Amino acid sequence: AKAAGRATYTFYTSDMLVRTKRRGRIESTLLSESFGEQFHLAFQPITDLATGRVTSVEGLVRWRHAAADRVSPQEVITVAEETGLIVDLGAWVLHEACEIATTLPEEINMAVNLSPLQFGRSNIVDIVSRTLKDTGLPARRLDLEITETLLLEDSPRIVDDLRALRALGARLSLDDFGTGYSSLRYLRRFAVDKIKIDRSFIEEIGRNRDHSSIVHAIINMANSLGIRTVAEGVETAEQLEIVRAAGCSEVQGYLISRPLRKAELDRFLTDRPGW
Ligand code: C2E
Ligand code: CA
Ligand code: CA
Ligand code: CA
Repeated sequence: AKAAGRATYTFYTSDMLVRTKRRGRIESTLLSESFGEQFHLAFQPITDLATGRVTSVEGLVRWRHAAADRVSPQEVITVAEETGLIVDLGAWVLHEACEIATTLPEEINMAVNLSPLQFGRSNIVDIVSRTLKDTGLPARRLDLEITETLLLEDSPRIVDDLRALRALGARLSLDDFGTGYSSLRYLRRFAVDKIKIDRSFIEEIGRNRDHSSIVHAIINMANSLGIRTVAEGVETAEQLEIVRAAGCSEVQGYLISRPLRKAELDRFLTDRPGW
């Protein structure tokens, strides 16, 4: 038992060391040169359940050198948030995504993730409005994905920023819905256009009764408030049928498509006009 304990301990510390080293590399990448050389975006289609047409694509950050290290985007974002570099990375992602959106068919929106720190540590309203002006993307084609963590802060400044972003004409989506708490309160207080139901609920939907009831309740509530819903992480035809029957508006997930490089996305959009 003692030997096993020691072995576990050794494994644990070397694992931590690898992580610390990796974090250092991520941080220096974030600090060095231009983001365009270090990162690119992948785009995951979001499809209307009624028509099968793509309504929008979500831009997701990818580290160019990640393959060797198997660094997940989530890890890059976490390091960026811990170091405050998320402000610069987020601004780059936004600009890149909006620029690429102008090359897509007009009916397709671009969804961009915003970290709560981009609100606290930069003037997000100025950044979004300047980016729209620079790229020429109409504001109505930009879906900004925010999380409940942001709303939890419940500060007047954030309420004002969210109002101002909507006043510009951008849309707001509430990401990872269901994972936070007292979500209903926010829906009354903050106007959002879309709710994205977290993948953890969709994953279990055919098997777990509680999760199925939660998904149904979210969709019914959203429908009655006139808010569109997106089921995230749909991987099977069964999951798609369940959320469709429940009255969900849109789906995103590997069943339809994984996140794609720009050239792959262009091909996907030409080959797949609807159901
Ligand atoms: P998210 O915003 O919830 O993005 C959806 C994630 O789910 C993506 O992971 C996507 O690849 C994954 N996904 C989509 N469909 C499926 C599916 O059917 N099965 C499974 N297993 N996964 C699916 P990704 O690209 O690894 O991003 C992870 C998270 O990192 C994102 O979660 C988001 O929170 C964050 N992130 C990525 N890019 C950015 C960014 O530019 N800015 C910020 N602030 N966060 C970002
Ligand atoms: Ca998202
Ligand atoms: Ca999400
Ligand atoms: Ca997520």
